[in-house]
Amino acid sequence: MNRSTASVDDDLVFMDEAAPPSDTPEAHEAKGVWRVLIVDDDSDVHSATTFALNNLEMQHRPLEFLHAYSASEARELLAREDDIAVILLDVVMEQEDSGLQLVRHIREVLKLTEVRIILRTGQPGYAPEIDAIRDFDINDYKTKSELTRIKLYTTVTSAIRSYEQIRAINASRRGLDRIVRASAELMALHGLDNFAAGILAQVATLLDQASSGLLCVQEHTNAQELTVITASGPHVKLVDSASGIRDGRIAGLLQRTLDQRTNIYGRDFATLYFGGNANRDFVAYIDTGATLNEIDQRLLEVFSRNIAVGLDNVLLVTRLHNFAFYDTLTKLPNRTRLRELVDEALGMPMRNDVILALVDIDHFSETNDALGHQFGDLLLLGVAARLQAQLGNQLTIARVGGDTFGVLGDASLVNPAVLLDLFDEAFSIDGQEVQLSATAGLVRLADYEGGGADALKDADIALKRAKLLQRAGHFYFSRSMGVDIRERVRLMHALRNAYEEKELFVVYQPQIDLQTRRPVGAEALLRWRTKDGTFIPPDRFIPIAEYSGLIIDIGERVMREACKELMRLRSMGYTEFTISINVSQVQFRHPRFLDTLRNVLAETGAPPSRIELEITESIAMEEPDALIQLLGEIRQTGVSIAIDDFGTGFSSLSYLQRLQADRLKIDRSFVTEITSSSRGSSIAEMVIQLGRNLGLSVVAEGVEDERQASILASLGCPLAQGYLFARPMTVDQLTTWLKDNGAR
Ligand code: C2E
Ligand code: CA
Ligand code: CA
Repeated sequence: MNRSTASVDDDLVFMDEAAPPSDTPEAHEAKGVWRVLIVDDDSDVHSATTFALNNLEMQHRPLEFLHAYSASEARELLAREDDIAVILLDVVMEQEDSGLQLVRHIREVLKLTEVRIILRTGQPGYAPEIDAIRDFDINDYKTKSELTRIKLYTTVTSAIRSYEQIRAINASRRGLDRIVRASAELMALHGLDNFAAGILAQVATLLDQASSGLLCVQEHTNAQELTVITASGPHVKLVDSASGIRDGRIAGLLQRTLDQRTNIYGRDFATLYFGGNANRDFVAYIDTGATLNEIDQRLLEVFSRNIAVGLDNVLLVTRLHNFAFYDTLTKLPNRTRLRELVDEALGMPMRNDVILALVDIDHFSETNDALGHQFGDLLLLGVAARLQAQLGNQLTIARVGGDTFGVLGDASLVNPAVLLDLFDEAFSIDGQEVQLSATAGLVRLADYEGGGADALKDADIALKRAKLLQRAGHFYFSRSMGVDIRERVRLMHALRNAYEEKELFVVYQPQIDLQTRRPVGAEALLRWRTKDGTFIPPDRFIPIAEYSGLIIDIGERVMREACKELMRLRSMGYTEFTISINVSQVQFRHPRFLDTLRNVLAETGAPPSRIELEITESIAMEEPDALIQLLGEIRQTGVSIAIDDFGTGFSSLSYLQRLQADRLKIDRSFVTEITSSSRGSSIAEMVIQLGRNLGLSVVAEGVEDERQASILASLGCPLAQGYLFARPMTVDQLTTWLKDNGAR
């Protein structure tokens, strides 16, 4: 046993040593007395009572007596003193009902609800009404002649016992209230650092004292090292200190807490154990000044258990967030992040000479195919490093796609000459000199009219144009590049026709239970087959339907079709079957959306509990309050909500919780990644874990091979969808498929 643990034992030995006396209620308890107030205008009653109860002790605590000889004296005394456990109160004093009036004053004016009251009267005729006994929470009513020494003794004993219970219940109720509030406040914080600092602050509130402390994480993969995440008070200097926790006593205590997986309470400290998931534990050391009483200890137990899950979730969300906004290979901001940054730039008053450029490496895919992905990755890293080194401190550099980089900043640097010159010098990759060239597409943000997403699209258009016309060149986007717009308009007219001509129809892709491999539901997906039989993919026409507003009518039709199909399947006996319907942002924002939903449900008779709406995370990120209200109303109808393409970008854990979704859909890109990923834990794994922590169902989409399915199953993912099980199919095909695949 080392020295630091020995000193812990000392602390525990002296645990009973009293806290420094002060005038708080806890101090009276710590001093170890029960305070009893005697109110009576007859001084003989005072002496008889103290004599009768003199040797009474409860739980090793003697009684301490306070005396008042009239109701008014009692009022004064009660205004000054607190933590009185029992009042022995004479009914008749200055007036016939002085005692009862005093009781009313105690309960209603002073709002002392915990103190126990025993009424005493000389004459049986002055018994209070039964109502008064109940309304004023009077413990006992005795005539003085009834109160023999033994009777008085048992009456006071039971009053003290019930006082103690009431106090304990109230204290824990207050504490639990605070824990609930603390958890809610903590969830609203972004990032692990803030969350951890929040924990220390909440512990202080919980304990009603300004406590200092520190919080550490131990990663089991990392040679059992403790890392300080946050600290307050005298411990602040420990943060960022590479040498770890130098205070041997604290280090020893924290280690013991981790080993025993339980909180430890000492004379002037507490350590809290937050059991994380398998690879990670959190532990906190708190200065408490004195030994915590039992109620506080119990509250901290509940608190640490409650918060442990939150800590895990925050860590997961922070990592997901990084994945969502940063490219894992180059660590540069990704397309999503760049779009945000362009939005910001567009929002600024002075954007005169700001330019967005997309820089694409020529012939990259050929190089990649010829020399392998590993070489390709090194090449991309080389380009990223050069861009970053030459321009990074003045401009924003991002990686927006495979071999395409984004550059955002002032025109003096973001122009073809500067950008393309960067490629003049050869890159040295893996000991080889590689000569590269690039093409750029540029957009001037001065008086640009769209948002960040539009600007990126236009830069793409300019880039494509540049590639088409000449390699190693550049092109500025201009409004005359209206071909794309004309194409959009043509498609929009065609789509309107298609809608009227019934060229649009719905197909269904089964979702299966990964354990039993039986179908549990299907996602409705829209198809457009033109008269000549060609299919136009939804990724192409849905944006146009949205942009033109046609999606409102089309979406309603999909919803109705899907509900009807559900009813048809139910009539065939598939009563457990669920249908998921995609709802686009534009539909969702439409003021009549909720009415439409209700109407369709009523008309078709489809049971809401078997209908799920899929909304994308990007909807979920906008106008949180309005959205949360709408989602609440949707859930009132009984329809459930899934977040589609989950993991591709979102804000915070609190937000995810406030959304009250029922299910997360892991985006196909993350499913594809699980077999290729060499990273410790995949995004899919994190989403599955998050779903479990938040009590949400999870479905993985785009499962194409058996390996993906078995990895997902082993990670605990309950549901899946993908070509491995079934492609989207027409209603007739679905009927046959369900028969063959043991649906219920
Ligand atoms: P989504 O909601 O993410 O739909 C999943 C897409 O993945 C579907 O493409 C589906 O056919 C495809 N998919 C399913 N399993 C696999 C697989 O194993 N491998 C591969 N490579 N792909 C798989 P689809 O039908 O082309 O739909 C594309 C997108 O169009 C949908 O993405 C959705 O955002 C939108 N969409 C489709 N139908 C509707 C609709 O009725 N309303 C709205 N608002 N959007 C729709
Ligand atoms: Ca979907
Ligand atoms: Ca999806």
